Amino acid sequence: MSEAYVIKMPQLSDTMTEGVIVSWEKNLGDKIERGDIVATVETDKAIMDVEVFRDGFLSGPLSAIDSTIVVGGAMGFIVATEAEINKTGEAPAAAPEEPSAVSESAVTAAEVATVEAAAGQAEPEGTVSTIKMPQLSDTMTEGIVVEWVKSLGDRIERGDIVAQVETDKAIMDVEVFREGFLSGPITDVDSVVPVGGPMAYLVETEDQVVRDSAVVSSASESEPATTSPSGSVAASVSTHQVQPATGSAEPVPRPQGKQATPYARKIAGQSGVDLSSVNGTGPDGVIVAVDVKGSQPAAAASAAVVAEVNVPGNGRPMNAMEKAVSHSMSSSLSMPTFNVTVNAIPSALIKASKQKGVSVTVSIAKACALAMQKHPTMNWCYQPVDKLVERSQVDIGMAVSADGGGLVVPVLRACESNSLEQLNDDWKGLLDKARKRRLSPNEYANPTFMVSNMGMLGVSYFDAIPTPGIAAILAIAAAGPDGMPLTITADHRVVNGAEVALYLNTLKGLIEQPDSWMGPTGPAIPEGDWDYDVVVIGGGPGGEDCARDLVAHGLKVAMINDSPYPGGECLWRGCIPSKAWRAAADRIRDRAHDEHLGVEGTTQATLNWTRLEKTRKHVLETRGDMALKTDKGVKIKVIQGFARFEDDHTVFVDTGGNNDNPHQRAAVGDGSQGEKISFGCAVIATGAPPFVPPIPGAEQSLKTGGILTSDTVWGLESAPKRLGVIGGGAIGMEMAQIFQDFGCKVKLFEGQERILAEVEPEIAKHLTAVLNEDKNLEIHTSVQVKSIKGKPGAMKLVYTDTDDKDHTFSCDYVIMATGKRPVLEPLQLDKTGVAVDKGVIKADTRSRTNVPHIFAVGDVVGGLMLAHTAGQQGRVAAATILGEDMQYDQDKDSGVIFTRPEAAFVGLSLEQAKAKGIDAVEVKMPMSIDAKAMITNEIHGMIKIVADKSSRRIVGVHYLADHADTLIGEGVMMVAGDMTLDQVAQAIHPHPTQTEMFGEMARRLLSRLRRSKRK
Ligand SMILES: Cc1cc2nc3c(=O)[nH]c(=O)nc-3n(C[C@H](O)[C@H](O)[C@H](O)COP(=O)(O)OP(=O)(O)OC[C@H]3O[C@@H](n4cnc5c(N)ncnc54)[C@H](O)[C@@H]3O)c2cc1C
Repeated sequence: MSEAYVIKMPQLSDTMTEGVIVSWEKNLGDKIERGDIVATVETDKAIMDVEVFRDGFLSGPLSAIDSTIVVGGAMGFIVATEAEINKTGEAPAAAPEEPSAVSESAVTAAEVATVEAAAGQAEPEGTVSTIKMPQLSDTMTEGIVVEWVKSLGDRIERGDIVAQVETDKAIMDVEVFREGFLSGPITDVDSVVPVGGPMAYLVETEDQVVRDSAVVSSASESEPATTSPSGSVAASVSTHQVQPATGSAEPVPRPQGKQATPYARKIAGQSGVDLSSVNGTGPDGVIVAVDVKGSQPAAAASAAVVAEVNVPGNGRPMNAMEKAVSHSMSSSLSMPTFNVTVNAIPSALIKASKQKGVSVTVSIAKACALAMQKHPTMNWCYQPVDKLVERSQVDIGMAVSADGGGLVVPVLRACESNSLEQLNDDWKGLLDKARKRRLSPNEYANPTFMVSNMGMLGVSYFDAIPTPGIAAILAIAAAGPDGMPLTITADHRVVNGAEVALYLNTLKGLIEQPDSWMGPTGPAIPEGDWDYDVVVIGGGPGGEDCARDLVAHGLKVAMINDSPYPGGECLWRGCIPSKAWRAAADRIRDRAHDEHLGVEGTTQATLNWTRLEKTRKHVLETRGDMALKTDKGVKIKVIQGFARFEDDHTVFVDTGGNNDNPHQRAAVGDGSQGEKISFGCAVIATGAPPFVPPIPGAEQSLKTGGILTSDTVWGLESAPKRLGVIGGGAIGMEMAQIFQDFGCKVKLFEGQERILAEVEPEIAKHLTAVLNEDKNLEIHTSVQVKSIKGKPGAMKLVYTDTDDKDHTFSCDYVIMATGKRPVLEPLQLDKTGVAVDKGVIKADTRSRTNVPHIFAVGDVVGGLMLAHTAGQQGRVAAATILGEDMQYDQDKDSGVIFTRPEAAFVGLSLEQAKAKGIDAVEVKMPMSIDAKAMITNEIHGMIKIVADKSSRRIVGVHYLADHADTLIGEGVMMVAGDMTLDQVAQAIHPHPTQTEMFGEMARRLLSRLRRSKRK
């Protein structure tokens, strides 16, 4: 059974000596994680949280609510396993301190009394407060008085800084929170005062001021208030357990015939020293702590008992910082370490850092943190005994020379999540304070990884010593002919050699190719005499948005499109024509709702196909014409023709296949007509036509027109009476329901178990159920279509249903909606070296292919094949070409499936969020309880919000609702803007609108989170 961790009453202010338990925020037996708030306590100033930094389970006895506990006294315990939980409940009020709860770092009242007595100090008359040496860091046991900022007799106000003290890590202010006059006995500058020891007093009236100095021992003579359980570290700033269970032993009895201070007896008990063999050096030969430590120096230094060798000469006592480094380094001897070195060429990183205006040190820290995302164990650490602390936040300590000598180690926090610019700003602040040794505890304590850079000192190779609390330290030497040696010294209990080697190789990659994570460091267009700075191939949403952004920045851009008008599939064969049909279908559908509102005589709507088609074509042609005029107006050189690469800086624009009908895809020319164009950069935005799987009979039926695709369905001369739709993706689902609304009998066949793979599972399931209520629509999932035959107007489709039997469906046409795939061969990508992966062009989040000056966007790169996705990627490509920092983030993308009700998504589903390691939770609300939905009888569906439990950031919003195409706007802003539940809860939504649901859901989820936290 491992030793329980004691939750002690923390010293939350310099004047606090005890605290009152206000509440327990966790229950006995609760699982506790590092950083959890377990209780609140009332100090002399406020009610404050008690945070713990151990993982485990809350165990009794717990101090009772309202009980008063001295600083350092036990409030409760954390045990490692559930089996060890002590459920005896509350300890009696004013619980006596557990032996094991003796403060490790704070001074108990008894000790303070001892110190006062030893120092021979008496409180002056009229004392309102004793100014004590505050504990300014977790490892601080004593402080040196550096300066009195106020003078004896000065009037002191609450919040005044009266002195500065040097701790083991920095020089810090001593603030007081009482009013009065500064009085002696006052400790001299340079005297060493144990934590909790009196430094001076505040008296009520000026005439009570005592103008004496206090008698305080010098650094070598002083007794620290306690032995440090966790070796204090200055240069390496890490908190760690280095001593054998301190504080658990009883003080030894008074030695016969000798005197010893209680503190000396206590540490003698802890370190097993026999006081009868110790000579006292205190007044009248009293044994003080330093005598005890002198007899057992090794025990105070390290868990691994290190033999100390007698060294001749008269040593000067180390100052606090030197001592801390010494103890820490001795403790490091207990770590089984090894070294691994890899050389990296730093020139690209140095150049990129300079261009970005950030320090190379910070860039290296960021690279270290990014490499840890692949190799997280490098950020863990060993915890005695036999435990590993698995940390995800990367806090990197980097040594800095302080003015006047010595090393201090500021810690750059959250290097994994903060931006490079943010880290650079943080570092500037830290550096300044570190040099003056003015860091506060949260600026130097507990790094999770460390970097020591001696490159600027011309060191050709070195390794550094990790301190307990981290698993590895990186030593950076000066760059030589083979590059810059990166040497990691690591704790073998946490990481092995192979892990370190892999980590170093990842780090090397990040250092040598900084643009992969730092973003562009300048425009991407190579020097050269090109016809155009950029050639964009394809005039759909991806290509057109990209070209417009580029010309807006003054670049010379040609957009090559194989159609007379821009717009691509979206305008001519996709989004817009399908929504024209949907709008007609909506009108018919809405008529069925009229009666519900008492509107009669409108239910028998019929469709005039010719009129609809006229409107549809008019919209497309008008928009195509508008787009072309705008493109030309903004000075894009629009070229009609089919582009294929001749090399990585030249395209041939084939104009032989040009046709004047924008409604149809153009044919590829034979190469006999056209022109060559050279370019600095190219953006491939050629889309993805419909893919037809090799079902027997499909190819032939495609030729006869019995099978239609999203390219050819627009040629229908009337709405079919019976229709088969193969494919339950967005296109198939939309088409199926549109035609059912037009009065057609439709059967939809999907091979997978569910429809709409990209849609949140519960939403897709509900949509299937709702659509199956449409009387002319049947959805068959998990079916296999075996063959298709017939001619237009008389098709036969054979399929195997879930009953394992073959069935035949006779229909007028079959719409094949089985996905889209890029057709890449005609582009002749092999002439450029652009890589293709699984049938799509490989592009990164900055739309870059593997060829630095060639980009790819939209459907041709796979992923979400949506028009706004293509547009966004087009703008990302333009930004990257221009040298700006922009990335496409699929986790914030969105989509609407235009069925009735509409299915829509923004960001992540609960499942996806969890898979990404987000501790996510969701809240949902059915449309049936919404007043507006009830009025219009649009009660099917729900809205869901998915949020990160801890940050309360909204990571996803999902819809099955009529009007989701409008309601989605708010979800997009929530996710794109990283909004929190609190912000949405507090936003004032107008009434009566369906947007009120967002505020209500956010408030409900917040309330749930609050209540579940209290349990
Ligand atoms: C029926 C249907 C409904 C849809 N509904 C929606 C919707 O509601 N919302 C939504 O977001 N998305 C929808 N989409 C998807 C959307 O149409 C596409 O995702 C989008 O058009 C992709 O844009 P893109 O720029 O990548 O390619 P495209 O729009 O396909 O544009 C590429 C252009 O490049 C041309 N081209 C190809 N090769 C060459 C070459 N070598 N030289 C010159 N030109 C070339 C093509 O002919 C085309 O004009 C729908 C699609 C379909 C089929």
